[in-house]
Amino acid sequence: NFQNYENFRAGFVAIVGRPNVGKSTLLNNIIGTKLSIVSPRPQTTRMRILGVKHLPDAQIIFLDTPGVQKGGDLLTKSVMESVVSGIESADVILMVIDAEAGWTKEDKEIVENYLKKVNKPAILAINKIDKIKRDLVLPLIEESTKIYDFKEFVPISAIKNLNIDELIETIKKYLPESPPLYPEDQITDLPLKFYIAEIIREKVFLNTRQEVPYSVAVEVESIKEGEKNKNLLIIDAVIYVEKENHKGIIIGKQGQMLKKIGMQAREELEFLLGKKVHLNLYVKVKERWKEDLPLLRELGYNQ
Ligand code: GDP
Ligand code: MG
Repeated sequence: NFQNYENFRAGFVAIVGRPNVGKSTLLNNIIGTKLSIVSPRPQTTRMRILGVKHLPDAQIIFLDTPGVQKGGDLLTKSVMESVVSGIESADVILMVIDAEAGWTKEDKEIVENYLKKVNKPAILAINKIDKIKRDLVLPLIEESTKIYDFKEFVPISAIKNLNIDELIETIKKYLPESPPLYPEDQITDLPLKFYIAEIIREKVFLNTRQEVPYSVAVEVESIKEGEKNKNLLIIDAVIYVEKENHKGIIIGKQGQMLKKIGMQAREELEFLLGKKVHLNLYVKVKERWKEDLPLLRELGYNQ
């Protein structure tokens, strides 16, 4: 099966931007599969997640980097290391800002701390244009030219699917000529275990509030096929929380909350994996799990 890859382009794109600007929504829109967590709360993406967009003449490999975080714990340090390494291994940086919010102090910090530290072409995606008046777009672009020497400015709406094709075409221009780097069937290199854990964690996020969602880590302990039914997956997963009262919240009255989380996660997993799923969820208290290096490794935060 011989294919001529003349004029083919392939390369890495690091997505940067403060929490909540719509990076995960954009990535999910482009790749077309739910890969990274989308939620109304900031800082829900902890891991570097790789999504591959296959096009007839190009392959774009996206690195979805977590928002810049502050804190001295190991988790934060490991997250920040992955942000920097994501940027350094990229061919292009795609910075996302929120059109409605405009340039915030945090956005400018990202420019200072990352864009100005690495010498890579950067594209600015001005997201959520569905939320602003049309005549406000141009002034925002003008303002952006003063903040950084972006190669391109692309106003988009990740949710309304506006101008996404244009963004993809723009990104393609900055990729090196190269044959595809990943096989066609690969959407993510995230191991199945982590993929499943992220989906469970998202459901915890959507159902809990305040500090509880941030205290949660999910570890998928085992994935087995049903002994008689190959179309069945039996998944055992542990939800780690930092405090005893968080455990109570996640389990809920008569186990109602855990049931709800489990049901939502199971439904999505069945849809995504195309199999029946038995999901066994356990809740364990592990104080300061964010400082537990072996556990962090196990959870995929530290390579
Ligand atoms: P991230 O933290 O940068 O990954 O942001 P998310 O993708 O999680 O999005 C944060 C919030 O913004 C979510 O509630 C999204 O539904 C919302 N959002 C993302 N893109 C758009 C958009 O184009 N328009 C509007 N109106 N909302 C958006
Ligand atoms: Mg995100």
